[in-house]
Amino acid sequence: KKPPSRRGSMADVPQDLIKQIERLEELFLVPAEKLKEITDHFISELERGLREENATIPMNATWCMEFPDGHETGTFLALDMGGTNMRVCEVTLSDQAGEFDIIQSKYRMPEDLKTGTADELWGYVADCLQQFIGYHHEGEKIEALPLGFTFSYPATQEYIDHGILQRWTKGFDIDGVEGKDVVPPFEAALKERGVPIKLTALVNDTTGTMIASAYTDPLMKIGCIFGTGCNAAYMENCGSIPKLAHMNLDPNLPMAINCEYGAFDSEHKVLPRTPYDIIIDKESPRPDQQAFEKMIAGLYLGEIFRLVLLDLNQQADCNIFDGQDISKLKKPYSLDSGFLAAIEEDPFENLSETQELMQTKLSLKTTKPELELIRRLAELIGTRAARLSACGVAAICKKKGWSTCHVGADGSVFNKYPHFKVRGAQALKEILDWPENKGKGKGDPVEMFPAEDGSGVGAALIAALTLKRVMVGQ
Ligand code: BGC
Ligand code: MG
Repeated sequence: KKPPSRRGSMADVPQDLIKQIERLEELFLVPAEKLKEITDHFISELERGLREENATIPMNATWCMEFPDGHETGTFLALDMGGTNMRVCEVTLSDQAGEFDIIQSKYRMPEDLKTGTADELWGYVADCLQQFIGYHHEGEKIEALPLGFTFSYPATQEYIDHGILQRWTKGFDIDGVEGKDVVPPFEAALKERGVPIKLTALVNDTTGTMIASAYTDPLMKIGCIFGTGCNAAYMENCGSIPKLAHMNLDPNLPMAINCEYGAFDSEHKVLPRTPYDIIIDKESPRPDQQAFEKMIAGLYLGEIFRLVLLDLNQQADCNIFDGQDISKLKKPYSLDSGFLAAIEEDPFENLSETQELMQTKLSLKTTKPELELIRRLAELIGTRAARLSACGVAAICKKKGWSTCHVGADGSVFNKYPHFKVRGAQALKEILDWPENKGKGKGDPVEMFPAEDGSGVGAALIAALTLKRVMVGQ
């Protein structure tokens, strides 16, 4: 039943390591039955989020209330404040259906900003915008440019240019922002610097991804991110959102829902958490939150790997790295998902590249059998992430009764992590009971595609749709 790792390669692995590998397989492999159980619970949690305030999965109404028709026009700024980078774009939507021009600048998101003060954060963001405008519109006298601000954290929105941060995710921990509208301090920082920008829409990256993808492919129904964090958005009908009933919205109006399903199972009912997942959660700045995300998102994959190796080293009946200086391995979050990806991509039968990586990054010498264990461990962590990820997508499809649809996906793990797409497709097949010839990715009933640029074009489109709605409303 176990998927073979590299054929025959375990032959000369000693018993104690084989035992460890088997224990890890026991911990990390998620069989089809479990995936189905998780998906079923997922569906009921999505529904609960649409009913209740403060449910585990927040199911945030985003006030993005239509798909683009392809004929949106105008020039918009888009700002993406992600977990790793910050990007400013100027997007011009042309009157040619589905076409656009984009200019952009990227800025590094300094690590210490994530745990600094709110003033530092908004000051930095405003500085980047000011620099962008100074550079691209030097000497021009410009009127306030409309901005779509991709703010990829859970926010409660009463309208589209407003958003109360529910809680930081992805390792951010900045005091005084949670529980408040993020727009006023952001606008204040712009005003202080005299930056001519008007925030038009506050957008989640998943909503932007869905809208940007639908701009060029009308079959797109879900936008997903598998990156530093994980989450999805889809279009609901207002009539299916009981918690908005008091607003008397037309039940047939569409409403994009930012699920924030990284929070799924934060009360630990179904996910097969390992001792390592429990440590990650405990040591994180927000314990007991984002349980699903912490098992599958890019921010955590390398850390899970590190914790397993550290644990093996400390076990009496396992000799891995014995007698070596493990101080580098002891450093939290020192390995990113790129490190794991590189191990999974090692093309050599003797795993010489992995050996090299362990040496350069961790100053650890490894034997051939140890390398086999390391490779298998990376596979197990990467495979679990892909398979669990599929549960969220499957849950939305099942809940909506969509037996076929296109899903636009973005994020470093989706785009760069080896085999993530095929493993995810295989898991979708197991959950949704597709016939044997499906589950390979291409041509599947639920098919995942690399998304159009959600936080650039998507945010610009949402700003355009918002302005259009305001004009029609007047
Ligand atoms: C955030 C979401 C976001 C996702 C992907 C999560 O941590 O809470 O808002 O969509 O990461 O970036
Ligand atoms: Mg992002």
